[in-house]
Amino acid sequence: MSRYWSPVVSQLSPYVPGEQPKIDNLVKLNTNENPYGPSPRVIEAIRGELGDSLRLYPDPTASRLRQTVADYYGLEPQQVFAGNGSDEVLAHTFFALFQQSRPLLFPDIAYSFYPVYCGLYGIAHQTIPLAEDFSLRLDDYHQPNGGIIFPNPNAPTGCLLPLADIERLLEANTESVVVVDEAYIDFGGESAAPLVKRYPNLLVVQTLSKSRSLAGLRIGIALGDSTLIDGLVRVKDSFNSYPMDRLALAAAVAAFEDEAYFRQVCQQVIDSREQLSGDLAELGFEVLPSAANFVFARHPQRDAEQLAAALRQEGVIVRHFKQPRIDQHLRISIGTPEQNRRLVVALRRIV
Ligand SMILES: *Cc1c(COP(=O)(O)O)cnc(C)c1O
Repeated sequence: MSRYWSPVVSQLSPYVPGEQPKIDNLVKLNTNENPYGPSPRVIEAIRGELGDSLRLYPDPTASRLRQTVADYYGLEPQQVFAGNGSDEVLAHTFFALFQQSRPLLFPDIAYSFYPVYCGLYGIAHQTIPLAEDFSLRLDDYHQPNGGIIFPNPNAPTGCLLPLADIERLLEANTESVVVVDEAYIDFGGESAAPLVKRYPNLLVVQTLSKSRSLAGLRIGIALGDSTLIDGLVRVKDSFNSYPMDRLALAAAVAAFEDEAYFRQVCQQVIDSREQLSGDLAELGFEVLPSAANFVFARHPQRDAEQLAAALRQEGVIVRHFKQPRIDQHLRISIGTPEQNRRLVVALRRIV
C-alpha cells in the first residue's frame, strides 16, 4: 500500500503465478511447461538475430509471423494477432471485446486469470458451474451475455469440449464474442481455428508456451475475423507498439516451420500422460481424462494440500488450488518419463 498509488490499484486482485523455485534438482510439475526444449531450428533462428540489428526496433506489425501462422491455419494475415504471451493477448481481448453492458460468462472452474482481467478493467462477469463431472454444459450459456470465454481443453481440469459442440454454441450465440482459449489444444484436441472463416464472433487464442516449448520467450496469438483483430491492434497500439522482440518473432516463425519436431514432442507428452494416468490410478487416484499436458487427480483418502506438501518434501512440486470444488485435486504437469517416474516413486512412499 502506498498513498501515491492510483486509487484503483489497492482494489486489484492480481494473479498469482505458479512457483518458479530456485532450488536445483526439483521435479517441477507445477506450471505446465513442456519437459522438452524448443526445436533446434528455433535456437538457430534466435542465434541469427543476435547482432547489430538488435539496435533496431522489431517489426511492430509482426508481419512475417502473422503470415506464417495464417499459412499454417489456412487463414489471412489480417485474421492473426500476435502478442507478448497469450496472457497479454487475453488482456487486450478483455479490454477490446468484453467491456459490454451485459456480463461476461465463463466456467466457475477455469483459468484463474479471467476474473483478474475482469477486476482490472471493471468487467461484470458471471461464472457458470461446470457439471458434477467437470464437463461444460453448453446449454447453460444460452442466455443474454456480453461475451463467453473458456479454455479448451479446460484448465485446470484437462477436459476437452468437442469441436462440434463449439460450433453449436457459435450457432446459438451470434450477438457476442466467443473466445476459445486453446493453450493446450495441441495435446489431443481439434482447434477451432478453421471456424474463424465462418463465425465473425469467434476468437481463438493460442500460446507457444506449452506445446511449442517457448514459455520463456512469451509468445501468444489470436485468430479471428479481421474486424476483431483490428480491435485488438487498436488496444495494442494504445499500450505498446512493440510487444514482441526480435528474438521472439524469429523463434515463433521457426517454431511453426518445424512441424515434425512439434508433432514428435506433442506425441511424447501424450504418451507419457497416458502412462502417468495409469500409474496414478494404480495408486488409488481418480484421474480425469485429460487432453492437455497435465492431469487433474484426487486421492479419495488423502488431503490434496497435504499431499502437495509431502511431495515437495520429496523434491516434487505440483499445483494445488485452494478453491471451492477443486481443493481436493492436484494438477500435475506431464514431465519426462524420468520425472514422472520420480513422482510416482515419491507418491508410492507417501500414500
Ligand atoms: C498457460 C496458459 C495461458 C498463458 O500462456 P502464456 O502464453 O504463457 O501467457 C493462457 N491460458 C491458459 C488456459 C493457460 O493455461
